[in-house]
Amino acid sequence: MATARVIIVGGGFSGTALAIHLARQSSTALQITVVEPRPTLGGGVAYSTPEPAHRINVPAARMQLSGEEQGAFDRWFRNQPECSLDSAAHCADGAVYPQRGMFGRYLAEQFAAAAKAHPQITLRHIQASAVAWEGEQLLLSNGEALQGDVLALAVSHPPPSLPRALRPFTSHPGLIANPWQHGVLDAIKPDASVAIIGSGLSMADVVASLGTRQHQGSLIAFSRRGQLSRDNLSGDWPEWTLAPQIVPTARAWLHHIRAEVVRAAEQQLPWQRVLDQVRVQGQEIWQSLPLREQQRFARHLRSWWDVHRYRIAPQVSTVIRQRQQLGSLKVLAARLDNIAAKGDRLAIALRLRNGSVETHHVDHLIVTTGPGHAALTASQPLLQSLSQQGVIRADQLGFGIDVDGHSHTLNREGQPNARLFVVGPAARARFGELMGLPQVADHAADVATQILEELQIAHAERCPPSAL
Ligand SMILES: Cc1cc2nc3c(=O)[nH]c(=O)nc-3n(C[C@H](O)[C@H](O)[C@H](O)COP(=O)(O)OP(=O)(O)OC[C@H]3O[C@@H](n4cnc5c(N)ncnc54)[C@H](O)[C@@H]3O)c2cc1C
Repeated sequence: MATARVIIVGGGFSGTALAIHLARQSSTALQITVVEPRPTLGGGVAYSTPEPAHRINVPAARMQLSGEEQGAFDRWFRNQPECSLDSAAHCADGAVYPQRGMFGRYLAEQFAAAAKAHPQITLRHIQASAVAWEGEQLLLSNGEALQGDVLALAVSHPPPSLPRALRPFTSHPGLIANPWQHGVLDAIKPDASVAIIGSGLSMADVVASLGTRQHQGSLIAFSRRGQLSRDNLSGDWPEWTLAPQIVPTARAWLHHIRAEVVRAAEQQLPWQRVLDQVRVQGQEIWQSLPLREQQRFARHLRSWWDVHRYRIAPQVSTVIRQRQQLGSLKVLAARLDNIAAKGDRLAIALRLRNGSVETHHVDHLIVTTGPGHAALTASQPLLQSLSQQGVIRADQLGFGIDVDGHSHTLNREGQPNARLFVVGPAARARFGELMGLPQVADHAADVATQILEELQIAHAERCPPSAL
């Protein structure tokens, strides 16, 4: 029997974790190809950053490839020379928050180790982008065409979408549309005045990065609600048990979680413990909500959830707090009312929540609204090609790609494709909480199991390999 072939598009955390889980779980020969334009696997958008100020946002002990390996990255990091060289990684409670690039390096090593440990599995990385799906073949930017028995899409984070008002300014030297682009912040002078659109994790990354460049000019970060990502908890706190809640509405859950936070406070427990438990049960809660309620959550509550759920490393939080105390960082609840070019500078008019308008003249405007997930299926040639042929479709919540409960993509008519999977955050409209490492790691392991089951069925039924 010919060796089954699995193609994974995207070698960030999700694609790399899927490849490793496939290698670990498969009892027979398997050819696994990861197509990824970056030179190494594992990094993706989050963990390939070379910025020393970009830190993982939970302690290293909570970053792993699977639930059974708890603490593995923490142990690995403590054995690296960087652990003693990077004193800022260490917190008073003993937790370590390494630079994010270290986690990417760890994943690349795990990929190499999986290839060595499972000689019956061929694991390879093709350094290219997948650009189209044509005639049952995956076409790559290097001219290759691949055929496989199963294709998995592990493409989660497109660059930030540019707000409509900023589109006429794409070539203005003051506009930084994608702060993830390597070196793009180097052009900012230490005394430059900077406005930042967005106040979440990406804004925190930018402020921390400017700090390492000795930037001291004025910073204004604004978003509709002006909410900053909250701090992580330090120290060892007991877990919280969430009282049951059975009314399947977003509003009922909001009231319930608030009541649980009050109940926890009465027992001297911080709100973070309650939210952590909501996250653990997040997929179950999400899947109990009808679509209408999920849409309500996405519209009204998501930004609140995001700032409480996605917290920042203490090192980054310290930089932000210091700049706020010094008065060199202001965070406003405001929306962009107007923008005009004034030579190399930009005049931005911000409408505050009380209706008044403030105009600021800045050297740079940086877009930190986070990945443009709502436009994922239109964000790059491969996904456009699959969408235009009706092979995949966007989900109804604007989170990513529509899948069924087995992570199979749904075509234009809503029919599942048993040979085409989505792994990682792009599938979260279906599953709910699927962004932080523990959930994405579990999802990758589940998808590996599904794929192996599918391949066994496929071989038993002798389906042609091109039946994607
Ligand atoms: C900036 C940031 C920081 C984060 N920090 C943390 C953290 O500290 N802790 C935590 O628990 N979670 C964190 N997360 C969340 C979580 O870890 C990520 O969601 C997770 O890494 C998702 O990885 P991914 O592989 O699915 O997606 P991505 O990181 O988007 O990787 C997708 C990969 O696919 C490749 N690709 C895209 N299109 C193609 C194509 N056509 N052909 C070939 N390759 C393609 C890209 O080059 C990319 O490398 C963070 C997320 C972000 C965005």
